[in-house]
Amino acid sequence: MIYNLALLGDPVEHSLSPQIHQIFFETSGLKGGYLCFHTAPNNLPQTIKHLQELNFSGVNLTIPHKQAGLQIANEASEEAKLIGACNTLLFNKDRSIKAENTDWIGFLQSLPDNVRQPSKKAIILGAGGSARAIAMALNKLQIPEIILLVRETSTSQTNAQSIIQTFSSQSSKFSIGSIEAPNEVIANADLIINTTPIGMHGSDEEQSPLPEACFKNIQNPNCYFYDLIYNPAETQFMWLARHRGFLTQNGYKMLQLQAAYAFSLWTGTDIELLKRSI
Ligand code: NAP
Repeated sequence: MIYNLALLGDPVEHSLSPQIHQIFFETSGLKGGYLCFHTAPNNLPQTIKHLQELNFSGVNLTIPHKQAGLQIANEASEEAKLIGACNTLLFNKDRSIKAENTDWIGFLQSLPDNVRQPSKKAIILGAGGSARAIAMALNKLQIPEIILLVRETSTSQTNAQSIIQTFSSQSSKFSIGSIEAPNEVIANADLIINTTPIGMHGSDEEQSPLPEACFKNIQNPNCYFYDLIYNPAETQFMWLARHRGFLTQNGYKMLQLQAAYAFSLWTGTDIELLKRSI
């Protein structure tokens, strides 16, 4: 059997996913390849249909297709439904399509054990698609207090409310604050996660979602700073935190782990074997 896999997005040119999946092919000993196809939103359904006809096993979806993929699929995992987005489509033999989301578990498992366990208060910066996946992971970790810091736009406010409604539970209480006035809220945080694109290569690279002055107000010396961005490897947000003596992490491990779970779903390869290869 040959496993043909692909990433569909707009843009996809600089994706690191082909290199990551090449390692999984070598580790598993399976035959196949992982290609990137630049796909405009109006071409998504047709591209998926063509790839099914060419016997592809499935695709990853990235910006801007993660929500649209859920509409195209015939069925979806509980996690993908709750998050409202999918990053992985499985093409079944009967031509039906299943949508999965592996971003949330990629994030969860990328957190060091000593950050996962004792965290009591987590801050999520932003409320877009990836913030929903992070909200699910923090909820599964039963972190008691989770605050979404967002801007005043109606999209951000609506999205943040939707996250609260979807993910608040007895063990995890969610609330909303303003990203423009973060000081009081972040002072005693254990974990601060940037899910905004601020600081990403090519746009706003010199910017941080939290102003420099904020970092002085953080009183917990063990506060952990996580940026979902992996290009550049150290964002301004991470740099500002590191220069104040805090530990930081970028999004590369999450990228590798979400890819490992997708590869395992497509091919049935043991996830532990794939995890050991990254
Ligand atoms: P998204 O759905 O567009 O969400 C972005 C969020 O950031 C929205 O809440 C947006 O608010 C907010 N935002 C944008 N500009 C802002 C600003 N100047 N000030 C305050 N808030 C701002 O994007 P996404 O899909 O969640 O992706 C976000 C980032 O995560 C990207 O850098 C992406 O590369 C990264 N990511 C990494 C991984 C990984 O595996 N490491 C996986 C997924 C995503 P509005 O709604 O008001 O615009």
